[in-house]
Amino acid sequence: MSAETLILDGNRVADAMKASLSNRIKNLSDQGIVPCLATVLVGDDPASATYVRMKGNACKRLGIQSIRVVLPEHTTTEELIAAINKLNDDNSVHGILLQHPVPKHIDERAAFEAIHIDKDVDGVTTLGFAQNAFGFAEFPSCTPAAIMAILDYYEIPVEGKHAVVIGRSPILGKPVSMMLLNKNATVTTCHSKTANLADIVRLGDIVVAAVGKPRFVQGDWLKPGAIVLDAGYNPGNIGDVDYDACWEVASAITPVPAGVGPVTIATLLKHTVDAAENIANKR
Ligand code: NAP
Repeated sequence: MSAETLILDGNRVADAMKASLSNRIKNLSDQGIVPCLATVLVGDDPASATYVRMKGNACKRLGIQSIRVVLPEHTTTEELIAAINKLNDDNSVHGILLQHPVPKHIDERAAFEAIHIDKDVDGVTTLGFAQNAFGFAEFPSCTPAAIMAILDYYEIPVEGKHAVVIGRSPILGKPVSMMLLNKNATVTTCHSKTANLADIVRLGDIVVAAVGKPRFVQGDWLKPGAIVLDAGYNPGNIGDVDYDACWEVASAITPVPAGVGPVTIATLLKHTVDAAENIANKR
């Protein structure tokens, strides 16, 4: 493919999404509402701190308020849930994002479940997840929604295609598999126990890499002309696919950085504005 390989430019998709939010934010401001995203960070993992800062900066640039709740490493599950409940009760907060992963001693699932569904802008609660599975979630998980937004922006057909998703995490692999299924793709979801992974990936018209292993997906695993969406974000800005080798074989591919990442952040901003509008409409 190479010369004709389309680079799926996440910044372009994100800019289009953000442009469509400006008027909506102004309308809310005319009603005295400033959309507000609260991010909760537990512990001092530098990568998580960077993600939270990036999200806060993106909010600021668009006129969305961001509140950062930073809790120490030794925070208990109960203390984290109490902090989330405080944000649930705060009428000025429209979206809550608990940065994953939390320290190992915390029951992350219990903490996610504490987020009120109306403020679950990253689709992490079981109810949000179930709504997404049924195809009517207001706030599907941001990275899966970003992957779907990229396919949509570039008018890449999904119906009838074989999509191979590598990864089955509750925030990424599973929800994106369901979203592709809901768009009438035939979906195979792979994981660490999948046998003959390369042979299965080679069946994919669309391949989503959500593994968390740098340069994991090899060029010779791809069907020529496959569409490759790389959700990976490993230290050093490295994706989960071997970009150069996959670029040679694919017909379209997301780069890392500037692929799925910026669209994930734009999706989070959009969900926060959606949540704020819901409050405005209930007045
Ligand atoms: P995760 O929770 O660690 O899940 C990784 C998945 O990959 C698991 O389902 C695991 O299988 C599977 N896996 C691991 N080794 C494998 C192997 N050898 N063969 C096949 N499957 C294998 O990770 P995650 O949170 O979903 O994140 C995945 C990637 O996306 C990471 O690089 C992360 O940094 C990135 N990410 C990016 C964004 C963004 O905005 N771009 C957002 C979130 C995450 P098992 O279930 O069997 O363990």
